[in-house]
Amino acid sequence: MNDRQIPILDLSPQYQSIKSEIYAAIDRVLESGQFIMGQDVKAFEQETAKYLGVKYAIAVNSGTDALIIGLRALGIGAGDEVITTPFSFFATAESISNVGAKPVFVDIDARTFNIDPAKIVEKISDRTKAIMPVHLYGNPAAMAQIIDIAQAHNLKVIEDCAQSFGAKYYGHCSNCGDACAESTRSAIAGKMVGAIGDVGAFSFFPSKNLGAYGDGGLIATNDETVAELAKMLRVHGAKKKYHNEILGYNSRLDTLQAAILRVKLPYIDQWNQGRSFVAKTYNQLLADIADIITPELADGHVFHQYTIRVLNGKRDQLASFLAASGINTMIYYPVPQDRLPIYAGQYALNPVSDELSDQVLSLPIWAELSYENIEFIANKIRSCLQGA
Ligand SMILES: *Cc1c(COP(=O)(O)O)cnc(C)c1O
Repeated sequence: MNDRQIPILDLSPQYQSIKSEIYAAIDRVLESGQFIMGQDVKAFEQETAKYLGVKYAIAVNSGTDALIIGLRALGIGAGDEVITTPFSFFATAESISNVGAKPVFVDIDARTFNIDPAKIVEKISDRTKAIMPVHLYGNPAAMAQIIDIAQAHNLKVIEDCAQSFGAKYYGHCSNCGDACAESTRSAIAGKMVGAIGDVGAFSFFPSKNLGAYGDGGLIATNDETVAELAKMLRVHGAKKKYHNEILGYNSRLDTLQAAILRVKLPYIDQWNQGRSFVAKTYNQLLADIADIITPELADGHVFHQYTIRVLNGKRDQLASFLAASGINTMIYYPVPQDRLPIYAGQYALNPVSDELSDQVLSLPIWAELSYENIEFIANKIRSCLQGA
């Protein structure tokens, strides 16, 4: 009875629903004969800046490049320290190391999976230049507290929004603790992530909430100087072609990807709502199962991943059971960044991050995942953990 196969992500229903628009966009680009940057990139930047509520949006070749160019445009480099979370994909810390700076890891809050704002200040040194929060799984980080700390210590904030296109920050008072920053919270409540710090860095990797059909990324900022520098850095450090002023990169967005993203952008809120609905349904169906903790349904969360914690050492057993039932799951991430071979022995323990890396399990999620499949998955989880 196990002929049902449920992948972790199925992009085909989305594609089927926009296929004719995608074909028209691709045809328009092919007919135009312009494949690098061009009119569609400019239009996509304008449309995205408007959507995010920022003055400037600069499209680049990937989310990783958006982080690297964002850091460089903020003037961060050799000898500087950047505070970030250990609990993320390596591109986060890698971008910091790649500009010559040092990532300094601050442990996470087990309820949100994001950097714990109460533990940031103790890691600030006279070399610290910036904080890089990650809105992991699409859940906005504690931005009010982070902005307050950054202002008090004269630090930049660069948001890793690779998993959170379309997420909005509201702030949860449950997270404030001593660092409660109510006036900052109300000043930024309702803003899109990526529009709150000095720089927001987005990824359009195909599996992200707003995914291209190839690589892509974007830098969002309200700072004109940062925007001008980022534009130079993406084309070999030149304002004017063949008049290169600084060392830059080749990090242009393809015209085809921009045209595809322009088709998708108007649907993003609808797709993110679909994901939230799937998450809410999972939470209801999994509510009374012992040994698992379901994620918070925070306002503005866009559920790039739906990730549960499996307690008492049962995570790998549950993952195998689900795999045998045709249900694909993933572990994001099995090794926290500070435990990766590249940084081995360099960092003190981050116990919450270490513990969660042994507990997290991401379940299938996409906007069109059916109730029947969610129920099937929930029932398999129940029968594994409760032997029902
Ligand atoms: C995907 C991802 C990136 C990198 O984006 P790419 O477009 O793949 O370069 C960076 N940070 C996080 C948290 C990501 O999930």
